Amino acid sequence: MKQSVKLIVGNWKMHGVAADLVEARALIESVHDVRADCRIALCPPATLTDRMRQVLAGGRIELGGQDCHQAPSGACTGSVSAEMLVDAGATLVILGHSERRGAFGETNEEVSAKVEAAIAVGLEPIVCVGETLEQREAGQAAAIVSAQVEGSLADGLSERPFAVAYEPVWAIGTGLTPSLEQIAEVHAAVRSAMIRRLGQAARRAPILYGGSVKPDNAAEILGVSEVGGALVGGASLKAEDFLKIIRAA
Ligand code: PGA
Repeated sequence: MKQSVKLIVGNWKMHGVAADLVEARALIESVHDVRADCRIALCPPATLTDRMRQVLAGGRIELGGQDCHQAPSGACTGSVSAEMLVDAGATLVILGHSERRGAFGETNEEVSAKVEAAIAVGLEPIVCVGETLEQREAGQAAAIVSAQVEGSLADGLSERPFAVAYEPVWAIGTGLTPSLEQIAEVHAAVRSAMIRRLGQAARRAPILYGGSVKPDNAAEILGVSEVGGALVGGASLKAEDFLKIIRAA
C-alpha cells in the first residue's frame, strides 16, 4: 500500500550548536511551497530542542528527539526522559537507531520499553530497524529486519501514531544505498511484520527509508512502493539539501 502523506525527518545526530539554528531558520523560511500534505520534522541534539522549538514556533515543521530513556525519571546520569523531550517541545522521538543499538547495545526489548515510555507521554515514536552488511550478504536482511520490527514495537502502538524507519546499517553515512528493488522488498517485509505484531491498525503507519538519502536520490527512493518518507542524517544539516529532499516528496 502506498502512503500518500510522506514524513520527512531530519536527524542531526550529535551535530549542532546554537549557531546552527540558522539552518532551521532557513528551512522555515523556505517550506511554504512544499505540498501541504507532506510532514516535515527536525530532530536536533537534546541540548538544542528547546531553542529549536522557538525557531519553529507557529510553523509547519515538527520537532523530535533522537532517543529517550525507558524510565520516566530517576537515577540515570546523562539520560533524557520522554517527558523532558515533551517539556522541551518535542512531539516525535527516534528510537532504536542503529548507532544506539550498536554503540550502546540497545536490544529490541529496550527499544520496545522506550516506545512505551514515549507513547505514555504522547510522543510519536519513529522506530528504527536495519540489517548489517554481513546479514545482507548472508541473505538475512528481510528476516533480521522483520524480527527487529516484531521485537521493538509495543502493544500500545496499535492505537497511536508512529512510524518505522528501515535503515540498512551499511547505508548510513556511507553514500551507499540498496537498489530500489531491495528497498521495496524490505519495506514489504516490514509492513508484514508490523501487521503480524499489531494487526491491521499497523497499515496506517508510514515506513520511512533512511541511509544516505541525498537530494539526487530522494525522488526515486520516495517513489518506491511502501516508502512513506525518509529519515535523513547528513543531508538534513544544510537547509538547502534538506529542502531538495522535502521537495522530492
Ligand atoms: P545518513 O544517516 O542520511 O547520514 O546516512 C541516516 C540516519 O542515520 O538516520
